[in-house]
Amino acid sequence: MNDNEAGFGGLQILDDGDPTAAAPIAMERPATTIPATTTDHEGVHARVLIIGSGPAGLTAAIYAARADLAPLVIAGYVPGGQLMITSEVENFPGFPEGIDGPALMANMRAQAERFGSRLVDVDVESVDLEARPFEVTAGGTRYTADAVIVATGASAVWLDLDNETRLRGRGVSACATCDGFFFRDKKVAVVGGGDSALEEALFLTKFASEVVLIHRRDAFRGSRIMQNRVRNHPKISIEWNAQVTDVLGQDRIEGLELTDTRSSEKRELAVEGLFVAIGHKPNTDVFREYLDVDDKGYLEISEHSRSNIEGVFVAGDVHDHRYRQAVTAAGDGCRAAIDAERWLGEQAEAAGAVLPPEEGEVVSVS
Ligand code: NAP
Repeated sequence: MNDNEAGFGGLQILDDGDPTAAAPIAMERPATTIPATTTDHEGVHARVLIIGSGPAGLTAAIYAARADLAPLVIAGYVPGGQLMITSEVENFPGFPEGIDGPALMANMRAQAERFGSRLVDVDVESVDLEARPFEVTAGGTRYTADAVIVATGASAVWLDLDNETRLRGRGVSACATCDGFFFRDKKVAVVGGGDSALEEALFLTKFASEVVLIHRRDAFRGSRIMQNRVRNHPKISIEWNAQVTDVLGQDRIEGLELTDTRSSEKRELAVEGLFVAIGHKPNTDVFREYLDVDDKGYLEISEHSRSNIEGVFVAGDVHDHRYRQAVTAAGDGCRAAIDAERWLGEQAEAAGAVLPPEEGEVVSVS
């Protein structure tokens, strides 16, 4: 069973020091090796280094690569972000029949690579955003960069129950797409009331005999269309005003303790699976020392996509807790890449560098 959760991931370093892709995901693609473009700094230098490989990071990579900046993407051990654990994406423009989340991410990755982006599937361990060039250590290698785009997204939140942690991978999951298959003809529960929970519940009906959706209030937060689908599905029942307060079972999950949020009364519900879909938290830990965060822990933006540090740009769910859509994250990645490109141009001009002419620009040769 897959204990997958959204976020960005980890690494494999070969003996010769080349970081090589090691994606534990069902995506057909060749291993990506960082070419040895070592500068006078120790390690690999990039003009633009992008951290994260969801829609924001990969769109930033597409734009930066097309601007001839040969971006380096630190993609994470589990590349692709939250769409890797999403089944059908029906609202990404251009796909009238919908598209699988992993397929959409594979397309974005291929598009980024086609224009010269270099991707390495490792997690970032630390950053130094006071150093110039910026320093990023990932999978034991130190990378340097003139500009950084932070697009690390957000990760699944858990209920924070001891037995939930103990039984993760043994009936407890945060990813129906990854684990739903294991619950064929079984009764399962989904907790949450947002679009994620509604989507997980609907997806699980393909396998499970019965899906119980548990929500702590008496109204869903998710979109009307998803609510209607859930309410009308014969395999889904809804437990309103209920909180999961314990996960029962020794070696595998056997049931849940539910507590009524109005009366505090407790009761047990027999299920063989629990899918937790109660939201996400931004992946900001390594940046906390340098970058401003808001009261929810999301990165703050000072102007356009700029962070509080010149040369560091921000894109996607790591700062956006309002829209949190693949398409808005992609738009954010585009903005961050354009801002980074312009900022690098300004720096070069200020340093007196001669810039290559823009396409179509008339250069006088007097
Ligand atoms: P969300 O909208 O923040 O919903 C989280 C849900 O979990 C809420 O119903 C919340 O309850 C509940 N919850 C939070 N903490 C809890 C706890 N400790 N115990 C029990 N319940 C808890 O998160 P999301 O569903 O992950 O969606 C995030 C964003 O992505 C949204 O903008 C959503 O529209 C979007 N999204 C879109 C799609 C799609 O279009 N296909 C799919 C997935 C997500 P309360 O309601 O009481 O706060």
